[in-house]
Amino acid sequence: MKPDSIELAIELNEMNSSRRGFFRAVSRGVTQSIEEPQAVINASRPLGAVEEELFNRLCNQCGDCVTACPQGVLSMQANGPIMDLSLNHCNFCTECIAVCPTQALNMLNTTDTGWRPTFSQSCNARLFGNCQECVDDCPKQALTLLDNDTPTLHDNCNGCGECLASCYIGAITLVEKR
Ligand code: SF4
Ligand code: SF4
Ligand code: SF4
Repeated sequence: MKPDSIELAIELNEMNSSRRGFFRAVSRGVTQSIEEPQAVINASRPLGAVEEELFNRLCNQCGDCVTACPQGVLSMQANGPIMDLSLNHCNFCTECIAVCPTQALNMLNTTDTGWRPTFSQSCNARLFGNCQECVDDCPKQALTLLDNDTPTLHDNCNGCGECLASCYIGAITLVEKR
């Protein structure tokens, strides 16, 4: 069932970080916020998406976020909008959040897509020591190289996905942050 008012959407959104809190609130008829709102990361959705179960209640699949994304990383699927960083990187412009009419996307998380690069054993830096394309292209300087190893990923990675396109042999795969 989709919420039928912005007020309800906002109240639901305030509970987005806690599944337990969410269900307790639903059982109470969504009359009050009982948890402090916290940022969540829902990597498969556009930037700023609330937790998946709540997202499915709030998103009306209008497609406005898909249209607004200047990077073309969002597409509408049968289950709603998804982010695909194999198409391009996310530049954190927050245009998708700005146009969302239902609070399915919100400003609690605007700094992390939730994706992280992993490196295959075919990485040329590991095999031959003759490549640092992804290291050079990372806008956060979140990658460093050691001799005879794949790049080391640091905590300041924001999951933008730029490194994916940097690797000309396809040795990088993005996975959801754990
Ligand atoms: S923040 Fe910008 S680039 Fe990233 S998904 Fe949203 S609209 Fe697209
Ligand atoms: S703009 Fe919001 S409500 Fe519309 S499809 Fe995107 S996430 Fe769903
Ligand atoms: S996802 Fe972005 S921030 Fe993270 S390592 Fe790749 S280029 Fe750097």
